[in-house]
Amino acid sequence: MTNSDSNNARSDDPQPSSGYVPDALEEIRRILVEQRRIILKEAKSEITNFARGDDRQLVEAALDDGDWSVIDLSESLVLQKLQQHKIKLHKIDESIRKIKDGTYGSCEECGQQISQARLKVLPYAVYCVECKERLEKIEKAEKESPFQ
Ligand SMILES: [Zn+2]
Repeated sequence: MTNSDSNNARSDDPQPSSGYVPDALEEIRRILVEQRRIILKEAKSEITNFARGDDRQLVEAALDDGDWSVIDLSESLVLQKLQQHKIKLHKIDESIRKIKDGTYGSCEECGQQISQARLKVLPYAVYCVECKERLEKIEKAEKESPFQ
């Protein structure tokens, strides 16, 4: 039963994200929190403009509680659109969590450090540029493959 531990060496690593000075991390955290706030605000105004009745209540509850399951189940177009916000919010939350855990900034694919320049542009990036490009190519190839 303890075999799975070997897959998770990172959680045993007491080192903070090496190569990042705390000030830079704090700045990134602030940017993430700010982006989170903006997305929530945008999402809320979209709902106010487009959603009505039950949809609106569902979405407002989801935004306040962070419980998105009702939206996942909905076929409403307005709510589908919110999925994009949701995905972004999730990425932001993950990044904020990683900053706390000290695992922020390493590529989820290869484990290499993501460059600070990239993180400045895209603070919730989870892949380094190389992996991102590789994964996008694979994804594209899979979509275009006639064998799927
Ligand atoms: Zn990578």
